[in-house]
Amino acid sequence: MEEKVLIFGHKNPDTDSICSSIVREILDKKNGWNNTIATRLGKINKETQYVLDYLQIPAPKLIEKVEENQEVILIDHNEFNQSVEGIENAKILLVVDHHRIANFTTKEPLYYTAKPYGCTSTILYEEFKNSGHKIEKKEAILMASSIISDTLLLKSPTTTKHDIQALEELEKIARIDIKEYGLEMLKAGTNLDDFSEEELISLDAKTLQKENAKFVIAQVNTVSIEEVLKRQESIEKAISKKIQEEKLDVFVFAITDILNSNSEIIVLGDKKESIEKAFGKKLENNRMFLEGVVSRKKQLLPVIDKNI
Ligand code: MG
Ligand code: MG
Ligand code: MG
Repeated sequence: MEEKVLIFGHKNPDTDSICSSIVREILDKKNGWNNTIATRLGKINKETQYVLDYLQIPAPKLIEKVEENQEVILIDHNEFNQSVEGIENAKILLVVDHHRIANFTTKEPLYYTAKPYGCTSTILYEEFKNSGHKIEKKEAILMASSIISDTLLLKSPTTTKHDIQALEELEKIARIDIKEYGLEMLKAGTNLDDFSEEELISLDAKTLQKENAKFVIAQVNTVSIEEVLKRQESIEKAISKKIQEEKLDVFVFAITDILNSNSEIIVLGDKKESIEKAFGKKLENNRMFLEGVVSRKKQLLPVIDKNI
């Protein structure tokens, strides 16, 4: 067992999961809690790599599973099926998250910070401020990157006034043009050419488990939906394989246009009709265009969850 307290975000980590874990470790150190360490549960995506390269910092250490009683801090998630292997028997000391709470129980008391903000880093930013510690440029850019990623430069409906204010103040500390930096960062994540279809559908995939249904909502960001749709046939093959392997009832693959804030979804699986019901629209060629939809958390998951 690791002696250190492992900090990590969800599987298929996004920028918020990685950057908030790093920031959490920095904040812990400033608070005199010296044995926590940022880790990660999967490959760094291209958007996050852009941030790490920009700051010239290494990726946190990769963790495959945890042993019994390992002390951990969960960042940007709480659902066990999105967490590390062995989480059921780990000792969760703290959760910092901005998602619904589900598929989560602990044996012992814990600290839990849940706020319905657009981003985990916004919660950390407020903690930072309340702690009275100075936010350095590096931390400011890490937190700003998370907020830009989760809210798509404050355009997602998940954005709250807390996120807007945090990003405004972080921009001043970072002394960079946030819009310019943010767009470059988001664009770095949209280069999907060298990913196989299998990778594409799992880059940012979340598995949701209900009593009577198991489904996945995966998402990729792009500047051209059409470009991604050129690969529809092979994407569908990969999805079908995944459905069989993991006994899924439905798989929703959202291709999100970050410039125009729309999504096209590809849907496969036995419960396909529940997705049509959810959005009041027919699938054509397994596809559906969803105008103004960019957020899995607010615009896809709740609607699908209710109808499945
Ligand atoms: Mg996340
Ligand atoms: Mg997040
Ligand atoms: Mg996300």
